[in-house]
Amino acid sequence: MSSVIYLDNNATTQVAPEVFEAMVPWLREGYGNPSSVYRLGRQASAALDGARARVAALAGCQEGEIIFTSSGTESINTAILSALALDPDKRHIVTSAVEHSATVKLCEHLAQRGYEITWLPVDSDGLLDPAELENAITEETAVVSLLWANNETGVLFPVEEISAITRRKKTVLHLDAVQAFGKVAIDVERLGVEFVSFSGHKIYAPKGVGALYASRRIRYTPLLRGSQEEGRRGGTQNVASIVAFGKAAEIARASLGDATVKELRDRLENHLLATIPGILRNGHADQRLPNTSNLSFEGIESEAALILLDERGVCCSAGSACTSGSVHPSHVLKAMGLSNEMARASLRFSVGRLTTAAEIDAACAAIPAVVSRLREMSPAGSPVLTA
Ligand code: PLP
Repeated sequence: MSSVIYLDNNATTQVAPEVFEAMVPWLREGYGNPSSVYRLGRQASAALDGARARVAALAGCQEGEIIFTSSGTESINTAILSALALDPDKRHIVTSAVEHSATVKLCEHLAQRGYEITWLPVDSDGLLDPAELENAITEETAVVSLLWANNETGVLFPVEEISAITRRKKTVLHLDAVQAFGKVAIDVERLGVEFVSFSGHKIYAPKGVGALYASRRIRYTPLLRGSQEEGRRGGTQNVASIVAFGKAAEIARASLGDATVKELRDRLENHLLATIPGILRNGHADQRLPNTSNLSFEGIESEAALILLDERGVCCSAGSACTSGSVHPSHVLKAMGLSNEMARASLRFSVGRLTTAAEIDAACAAIPAVVSRLREMSPAGSPVLTA
């Protein structure tokens, strides 16, 4: 067992050993520019083709509809801005109150530029009401941009219903599938969506590589101008990382049916729910990613818990972020109706393919000890909420 119990796979994943092996030759002898016509360049270009085919296979689309980018964030920005460029007179965007900061920050910026943003609410399970989406779309709506899976709670939005609505309303749909990719089956073509964003570092490839599915059915406007990626994304491709992304996608596709990650997540979650009083599970019990568990522990501050858990080798995330000395509760948990206290008392555990049963058992011992210690220190005393 490693000294680190890494339960933060929604933040990032370690590069899988096979993925690392696959990328190394492209950092050593395979250093050609994929746009060069001599053999070294053609080999790099062929490596990109292979990776594109593998990413497309996991996404369920044609290879020619995958554009490699630098990140999920770049893909999201490109998709939304490309959709807006289709008709400059349409100045309304529909999104949700629980999106990733990449979408939130872009929409806030666009709001300052005069766009109207509808932030769809979610219920206490983190789910949105498709009828509210339908009502929100107007003649002015340029794009609907929604998560496939929430990074904090793992909650899965009903993408089939969502895409049925946007198709009926003839509105462009972008789905942020950064967390869903490789964790649940994705069939982009069958969904009939216009844009889908992906990222490499959530599926055991390195950071700094992403992909955008852009349907050939609509006009596409690049964010970065240049000749690469058929003029759809300028900038010499990061060949080694793209090869790694392709390898990671291939492995993820082969392990899609494997129930181990869910079993480990459930083992941890069930143990914590059974042994610690005053816990609230955040997010729908079933309609969520198999690897994610977001729990609020009444009477604790999650930022303090992170430090104590780190001392015991456990890495996870908090439902709050400390910026400029003050602790802000997660906007996702707030949108689900949690009080500031319960949002600040939340921890996200995200299991990965490389997590072992021994690590889960060690976490099952460490987490209750940390929660008890924090509750002893807390002026609020013992919890009143029943588990
Ligand atoms: N969207 C979601 C749901 C995410 O979880 C993340 C990363 O945390 C992103 C987008 C951004 O991806 P990247 O880190 O590749 O920019």
